[in-house]
Amino acid sequence: MTETLHPPTPGTRTAIRATGLTRRFGSVTALDRLDLEIPTGCFFVLVGRNGAGKTTLMETILGFGAPQDGTLECFGLHPHRKGAQVRAAIGYLPEGRAWPYPRMSGASFLSHEAAFRTEWDPEWADRLCATFEVPLHQRVEAMSKGEFRRLRIVAALAHRPPLLLLDEPSDGLDPIMRERLHETLAEQLSERETTVLAATHRPEELAGFAERLGVLRAGRMHTVLTRDQMDREGLEVRVRIPEGIDAGTIDNLGVLSREGEGPEELWHLLAEPDTLAERCRNAGIEVVERRPLGVRELAIALLEASK
Ligand code: ATP
Repeated sequence: MTETLHPPTPGTRTAIRATGLTRRFGSVTALDRLDLEIPTGCFFVLVGRNGAGKTTLMETILGFGAPQDGTLECFGLHPHRKGAQVRAAIGYLPEGRAWPYPRMSGASFLSHEAAFRTEWDPEWADRLCATFEVPLHQRVEAMSKGEFRRLRIVAALAHRPPLLLLDEPSDGLDPIMRERLHETLAEQLSERETTVLAATHRPEELAGFAERLGVLRAGRMHTVLTRDQMDREGLEVRVRIPEGIDAGTIDNLGVLSREGEGPEELWHLLAEPDTLAERCRNAGIEVVERRPLGVRELAIALLEASK
C-alpha cells in the first residue's frame, strides 16, 4: 500500500530544505549548489529571470529526476526516493500545457487525478469547479489556455495539500479568474496550514501573501528576504551628493541601482533605513526623499543587481 504524507509528518517544521542542490541537463547546470529553507506554513514567492531554474526546482521537489549533488528534503523526506509519498502532499500547478491524454474531458481529467489522491475532497472539488467555471464536458485539447489552467488549479487544490507548488499561477487567467484564485488561496491558507512555493514574473500580484521573497539567479538562491525586510529595507531614495564624493566608492550602502548624474541621484536599494541614514550622514550625503519600493520594483532591482 502507498504511504501517504497527509498531513505532514508531525514535527517537520521545515517544508523544504535544500543544501548544495545541483541539477544538470547535459552541459546545462539548472540548479547550482542551491541552498534553500522554507518553513512549514510559509508563503514563499520565487522570482528569477527566464532560465534561472524555477521550474527545475519545482520538478526536483516533485521527485521528477534526481539531483546530481546535494540534498533535498520535503517534509523530511527525500523526493526522489519517496516520490509517491512526497507527491501525495503536493498540489502542483505546472507552467506548461503538457498533458498526455488530450482527448479526455475536464471531468475525466479530474476523476483521473482523484484516483491518485486519497485525500481528494469531492465537495471542495465541485466548489472549485464552480468558482473557476471549469468546462467539465469539454475535451482538454479543445480548451483555451486559461480554461485548461483553471482545470489544473482545481486539480492542484482539491486534495487540500499541505504544500502547493505554483508555477506562474496567474498565467493565462483573465482578471476575474486572477481575483478568484487569490480569494481561493486566501481561503485555503486560512483553513489549513499550507506551505506555498510560487514562482512568478509578477510578484506584485502575490505581494499580499508573500512572507518571503527569494531571488534565484543561474540556479542559485541569490537573496532571500523576510516580509519585514521587503517592507522596511526595499527603498527608493533621492540623494544629494556633494561635489568630490563618489557614492560608488562607499561600502555597504546596499545600493542596487543608481540613476542620475550630478548632485542628485535616485537609488533603489536594500538597506536598513536607520543604518542607511547614518551611513549617508557620515559620508556627507543628504537624503532628500525616501519611499518604500514595493515588491515589484524591489524584485526588479534585485534581478538587475544579480545579473
Ligand atoms: P522561465 O522563467 O523561462 O520559465 P525557469 O526559471 O523556470 O525559466 P527552468 O525551466 O528551470 O527555468 O530552466 C533552467 C535551465 O535548465 C534552462 O537553461 C533550461 O534551458 C534548462 N533545462 C530545463 N529543463 C531541461 C531539460 N529537460 N533538458 C535540457 N535543459 C533543460
